Amino acid sequence: MKNNKKAGSPAALLSQEDWKKNAAGDSSSYEMVLALQTTLDLEQLLGLFSTHLGAFVAHSGFGFSNKKLGVEFSVGKKGRHVCSYNLELEGESLGEWQMSRDRRFTEPELARTEAMLCRLLYPLRNGLKYREALSHAHTDPLTQTGNRAALFDSLQRELELAYRYGTPLSVILLDVDHFKSINDRFGHRTGDAVLRSVARSIKDSVRGSDILFRYGGEEFVIVLANTAKDGAVQLAERIRRTVESTVCDICGLNLRITLSLGVATLLPGETHLDLLHRVDQAMYLAKRGGRNRVADAIEA
Ligand code: GH3
Ligand code: MG
Ligand code: MG
Repeated sequence: MKNNKKAGSPAALLSQEDWKKNAAGDSSSYEMVLALQTTLDLEQLLGLFSTHLGAFVAHSGFGFSNKKLGVEFSVGKKGRHVCSYNLELEGESLGEWQMSRDRRFTEPELARTEAMLCRLLYPLRNGLKYREALSHAHTDPLTQTGNRAALFDSLQRELELAYRYGTPLSVILLDVDHFKSINDRFGHRTGDAVLRSVARSIKDSVRGSDILFRYGGEEFVIVLANTAKDGAVQLAERIRRTVESTVCDICGLNLRITLSLGVATLLPGETHLDLLHRVDQAMYLAKRGGRNRVADAIEA
């Protein structure tokens, strides 16, 4: 069963007293509304909603997606019967919510689900706005890669996982060669376009675009979870070749760009700052070695 319909907007904003009257005899809905106000985290919010809904409408799994914000997750077990709603509030699409189980959903269950979904709309919109704000605060506006704050968050998280599970962690630091001369010859606007183009080429070369960060001016870092040195060096070499062989067509100027790349793999006891320091040194080795090359970090 696919139940695709809008779970329309609540008519108006209700005061707490109105709400209580409206929800008379239904203290569970009131409790749910209070619970939904306790978090802005989307996964947590939808988890709370599922728990409260589950008291009336059993389901084995649920999911939510909002393509515009790149949000997509599902929790629990997907069943044979799916019930899904496109959620909308004041003309704004919030995304698609769905739940599933192996048994068909009954009409009274769907009515209950719709009534409860109406109470999810405002908290969900707040959660989406919060997610959007977080994402902006972690994104470099020029290249749409993660910024330095996002890099530090990601590195610290990955370091913790690497230590906990004993998995390897590598990083690549790359710097555009002679970038200043591009600015000097063609202006900063062209320089900016080159940076965007380099970021695009790198994103196309790596598995997930969320592992690329702009570290500084014309320097980028790639965080490679579960990757030992050999794999990281291979990837760095592939990126070097891809960028070297790509003609950067910017406003009719066919520019050739090269990169110098350093590679470092986490050593026991290192902090994320130690690791960044070693990969920075490796990148400078590549520069001193003649540029347009990959260099390994010294492991001492
Ligand atoms: P090397 O091969 O040694 O790396 O030389 P380089 O010219 O690339 O390095 P240098 O550090 O001398 O110059 C980096 C330049 O990057 C200087 C700075 O003006 C420029 N830059 C930094 N951020 C931006 C930016 O956002 N846009 C543009 N267009 N230029 C930037
Ligand atoms: Mg440079
Ligand atoms: Mg530099």
